[in-house]
Amino acid sequence: MVIRSDLSLYRRRLGQGWGASWMVSQVLISLAIALPAGAIPSRLIIPMLPDLPQPVPVLPNSELPELDCSVISDTSFYGHLPYSEADRADLVSVGYGISMQRDAAASFEQLRSAAAIDGVSLVPLSGFRSVVIQTDLFYGVAADRGQTPAQRALVSAPPGHSEHHTGYTIDIGDGSATWADLSVSFASTSAGRWLAANAASFGFELSFPPNHACVSYEPWHWRWVGDDRSREIFDTARRYDAQTGINRDR
Ligand SMILES: [Zn+2]
Repeated sequence: MVIRSDLSLYRRRLGQGWGASWMVSQVLISLAIALPAGAIPSRLIIPMLPDLPQPVPVLPNSELPELDCSVISDTSFYGHLPYSEADRADLVSVGYGISMQRDAAASFEQLRSAAAIDGVSLVPLSGFRSVVIQTDLFYGVAADRGQTPAQRALVSAPPGHSEHHTGYTIDIGDGSATWADLSVSFASTSAGRWLAANAASFGFELSFPPNHACVSYEPWHWRWVGDDRSREIFDTARRYDAQTGINRDR
């Protein structure tokens, strides 16, 4: 029941439900995608929004700050690293009103086609998200649930700290098992099992595997690390993962 409730909230927040709130959300998402970065006056953004992130720091191993999920440091926020918003000109649609960075999107299309040949239906649930949308997903849902930022950060990235800002990350569902969308149960669906076996061949890796240091297991959340630019963006995160012994081969 908790999962169903979470999912319906998430869909409503992302504007993937029905009704007036869906339409309003779609307009907001369209505006957020269409407007150039910085076009939205900062006073229109929720006041508690932290400063917009600087370009992702790429630190030598010796300078990686100690990972502490409960403390805000210069480079992390409850264990989530800062990410800059994608250049809107680099985003293309992957269907369902969802966009990704164009190279990542091309690999996703190949991934989806290969899965379809095996009889597996991969459905994009969420791709690029602006800081404005993530602000609602983080603080809005936290307020609805009476959660502290630290509690919310276990399952959601604070605005400015979501891999979805980069355009290189996608949440994937199973078209024949929508009941498992955005839940740990997705791992046991045909899509979840197929991705675990094949996604790496297309440049995708799980961001939050079962033994992640700070964030709950998200078998549906995949980041693309198929070229130098994307690997640089996720370099710090991947080295944190290596330091904490994360094994993505599960
Ligand atoms: Zn995600």
